[in-house]
Amino acid sequence: MVGSGVIGVLALQGAFEAHREVFRRLGVASVPIRTPQELEAVDALVLPGGESSAMLRLMEPQGLLDRIGKKIQGGLPVLATCAGVILLAVEVTPHQKSLGVLDVDIQRNAYGRQVFSSIEPLIFNPAFDGTVTTKGVFIRAPRLTRVGEGVEILAWRKEDPVLVRASGILAATFHPELGQGSGLHEFFLKHMDRPV
Ligand code: GLN
Repeated sequence: MVGSGVIGVLALQGAFEAHREVFRRLGVASVPIRTPQELEAVDALVLPGGESSAMLRLMEPQGLLDRIGKKIQGGLPVLATCAGVILLAVEVTPHQKSLGVLDVDIQRNAYGRQVFSSIEPLIFNPAFDGTVTTKGVFIRAPRLTRVGEGVEILAWRKEDPVLVRASGILAATFHPELGQGSGLHEFFLKHMDRPV
């Protein structure tokens, strides 16, 4: 299972430390990832929230984004939150580079500016058996504008899909690491296993 391997957390920018803290609470070690070399040693990867454009700028010069894409195509399990989901999408609005490994389209900052960031009730698909955190923290959150056929929706905010899964990828447009509980991280450790 993922939980018995090495969890890498992309640690260039954004809310990476909060993810590492959740794993610490669960008794699972994680390592910060800042270079393609560090990526080689991990069995699963977390792409945190933050600013996807800033992350892209920090990754591009060292080819880190493309390396992450190759590893995901090769089966590396990924937990992506917020900006992390933007990095994985097929089409990003307004347009910016993305990996296209998760069959969704996404609109950045779709719920408005920082002042409209909010904590919203979530509706879960019964297929999600994590300890349910009933609310999601949305910070300048993106919105999934298209979800491909092979992508399973695990939670909604009103009508909007906000938590999805496709093979080894678990993606949330909210910030589970800033909410209470560790249900999503536990679900990732338990279910998102794939041979690497
Ligand atoms: N607005 C950010 C972006 O477009 C995402 C916000 C977040 O990760 N909380 O990258």
